[in-house]
Amino acid sequence: MTAFGRRGWCPDAWRPMMAGDGLIVRVKPRFARLTRPQVEALADLAGRFGSGALDLTNRANLQIRGVREGGWRELLAALVDNGLVDEDPEAEGRRNVLVAPGWKPGDETARIAEALLARLSELPRLPGKMGLAVDTGASAVLTACPADFRIERAEGGGLLIRLDGRESGVAVHAEEAADRVLDLARWFIESGGIAAGRASRHLAPLPAWAMGKSRPVRTSLRCDPGYGVPFGRIAATSLVELMDVTGAAALRITPWRRIHPESSVAPPVAGFLLGTDDPLLRTDGCPGAPDCPSSSVETRELAARLAPHISGRLHVSGCAKGCARSRPSDVTLTGRDGAFDLAFGARAGDPPAHRGLSAEQLIAHFGAS
Ligand code: SF4
Repeated sequence: MTAFGRRGWCPDAWRPMMAGDGLIVRVKPRFARLTRPQVEALADLAGRFGSGALDLTNRANLQIRGVREGGWRELLAALVDNGLVDEDPEAEGRRNVLVAPGWKPGDETARIAEALLARLSELPRLPGKMGLAVDTGASAVLTACPADFRIERAEGGGLLIRLDGRESGVAVHAEEAADRVLDLARWFIESGGIAAGRASRHLAPLPAWAMGKSRPVRTSLRCDPGYGVPFGRIAATSLVELMDVTGAAALRITPWRRIHPESSVAPPVAGFLLGTDDPLLRTDGCPGAPDCPSSSVETRELAARLAPHISGRLHVSGCAKGCARSRPSDVTLTGRDGAFDLAFGARAGDPPAHRGLSAEQLIAHFGAS
């Protein structure tokens, strides 16, 4: 069953959401990895059934944009055939498992994620936006990415399981991690978590077995920046080109709008940003008008124009919802009634310093003309 156009839930391939440019069909690559045949299939399907564009999400998923209603079922069947979507809608809805993209075959992240994926049917019914993060590399890299139950590397070297929003978690062995996630999910439901909606908002005291003082190892270091995708939007055919040029056997999708080819070389590829210096890499902009019906303003062209003239992080949001970034930015523009509100150190929709500015006024104000 589907309900095009409903708001307030995470769309997936079985429950696509209607946007201004057509349906959004979400693909959740297992282990955040796309093989060559899957990339080729995506490029073909996105062009045949949609606009040809893909969006990368902050859960390391891909969204096929501009899908025509009449083609959705055929697209869905092809995605299932290519192992990109689960054939069971219920299983697809539960498959919200974020993995640290640097995992290696057989390591703890891979083994735990595999165990979790095999047992998702045992999870109680959780609010649609809830998910899991398996983040057991040398340090936690997914801390800022959306997840509710986290398995991470502990400061002492072992593993821990932590409810999002809590500073510390409880030590756990890799072999029992899936069991503990299921226990924590059941506790979440039994203790009234549904009303809170997300783990970080659920303040009920944890059960004794889940209380611990283990803290995750955190670092600001992020090696291998990979290939950046401005605003997270890319032509699906560009992924094929990325594989061709790098000779990669597969692509890893990250939750920070970057793609890591499984390759030892990193030559420039059209449409992608290499390195970490490009101002677009510190710029967020949702699709805005006309793609999103909630927006009365164009967003990304303006963001690209302003980005080189702004030090720090820029966020241009089509409306106060702030889909592109939930955290504060140095400069934030929020669309409202065909103009922009300008705020500093703020989230989209926060009280602005200046109201009702046109794109031209902003371009002049930041010296981008
Ligand atoms: S922030 Fe508003 S305008 Fe932008 S994509 Fe989200 S709902 Fe649409």
